[in-house]
Amino acid sequence: SVLSPDPESDAELAFEGALRPKSLAEFVGQSKVRGQLELLLQAAAIQSRTPDHILLAGPPGLGKTTLAMIIAQESGRPLRMSSGPAIQHAGDLAAVLSSLTPGEVLFIDEIHRMARSAEEMLYLAMEDFRIDIMVGKGAGATSIPLDLAPFTLVGATTRAGLLPNPLRDRFGFTAHLEFYEEGELEQVLTRAARLLDLSVDRDALGEIARRSRGTPRIANRLLRRVRDYALVKGTGAGMDAVHAALDLYDVDALGLDRLDRAVMMTVLRRFDGGPVGLNTLAVSVGEEAETIESVVEPFLVRIGLLTRTPRGRVATRDAWRHFELAPPAAGSP
Ligand code: ADP
Repeated sequence: SVLSPDPESDAELAFEGALRPKSLAEFVGQSKVRGQLELLLQAAAIQSRTPDHILLAGPPGLGKTTLAMIIAQESGRPLRMSSGPAIQHAGDLAAVLSSLTPGEVLFIDEIHRMARSAEEMLYLAMEDFRIDIMVGKGAGATSIPLDLAPFTLVGATTRAGLLPNPLRDRFGFTAHLEFYEEGELEQVLTRAARLLDLSVDRDALGEIARRSRGTPRIANRLLRRVRDYALVKGTGAGMDAVHAALDLYDVDALGLDRLDRAVMMTVLRRFDGGPVGLNTLAVSVGEEAETIESVVEPFLVRIGLLTRTPRGRVATRDAWRHFELAPPAAGSP
């Protein structure tokens, strides 16, 4: 879908880079997390020590990478970026850790996808700033201890629950990022329009904000699609352009995209509103269970279309109403 993160696209990356807030003050919303981070960074600065390890948890596009960059920036430390999928062996992690300079911030995106062997190395590194490097195999294998420069690990994950407890426990602080309010997304969009030198009507920005799935990354992308539309059709970027562009890209009035709708329609039509188990749901829509659970569901739950019960996922009355379907006679919650 045009709205899902596409790390392959240089244009999208350049665009995101240009719009990334550079300081906590510029970072819109998440006031609770901002306050928590501010305190943590200031305390470390007063004591001239490296800040505690920080875990950032939340659905994609809510600002985890941006916050990692800001943490490095605000504490005046260099930033090293890596990701779970890039760490497939303990050796990959050893190479990164042993080359860190004192005080460096190490960002590991999608940290729940790191290899198990690397995870265990990371425990010791986080706790004691040292690792054991295994040399040789079998009976002759020895481990050589290696001291590391003190560093701050900033891990990002779509759900803190995906991490094994020993890893989760080694973070001094876990920031849970929430979906953004409409007003906050309007601020994100106003800022983006200014930076991109776009003139967009105020009510049009509000409409994009309403249909952005509570997510700044999506808000910025929709803004770009509206800009495209206005450019190609030679219209202004007003309410009409927003409606036309977002309809073209299958974003509905609640901001649901194709996958959101596929999940809801499966629960509603195929399973009569549920309950339906996560894995059954994932197979039915042809997606990974993890994606359904940590990307799709959080928003559907948050806007009240879906509930999670011990027996499975259940569509709410609002869901039947939104999709203009009649609930089965037996009734639904
Ligand atoms: P994540 O790492 O959680 O997937 P990112 O940090 O990459 O999300 O954010 C995606 C984009 O959304 C960024 O390029 C940035 O422009 C925008 N963004 C995210 N959070 C904010 C925010 N609080 N204020 C302004 N823009 C934001």
